Amino acid sequence: MKSERAYVDYTLDKRATLVALFQGKVDACDADPYLLLAAKFHGVKVQRPCPVCKKKSLVELKYTFGDQLGQFSGRIKSHVELAEMETKFGEFRVYVVEVCRECSWNHLCASFLLGDGKERKRPRRQRTLEDDDWVKR
Ligand SMILES: [Zn+2]
Repeated sequence: MKSERAYVDYTLDKRATLVALFQGKVDACDADPYLLLAAKFHGVKVQRPCPVCKKKSLVELKYTFGDQLGQFSGRIKSHVELAEMETKFGEFRVYVVEVCRECSWNHLCASFLLGDGKERKRPRRQRTLEDDDWVKR
């Protein structure tokens, strides 16, 4: 990504969670049904094996957050979408989460900022399919 900056690596944190997990102190294989569904439909397969079950079922999800994203803050975006968003928004943060579809291990891997750095107003709220659903009820 061209505008990538303010990269935060959560490897140490992940390692600490894994140690605690292997010591039986925490249950980190607790991906909820929504996260597992997101992993199934939007997850991008990675080459490294799952650190817990060692299977090749690990995927990454990229969540986007930022004031400038308005109501769409918190959505999962693909690499292609992120590349488009880089030039449309001044600044937003991407959180990379790894999820194992086999054992439900999940952890934050990294986060970074994207965007062209230009100040923009929060977008106006747009009507979405969810709004239509709500009206019908
Ligand atoms: Zn696993």
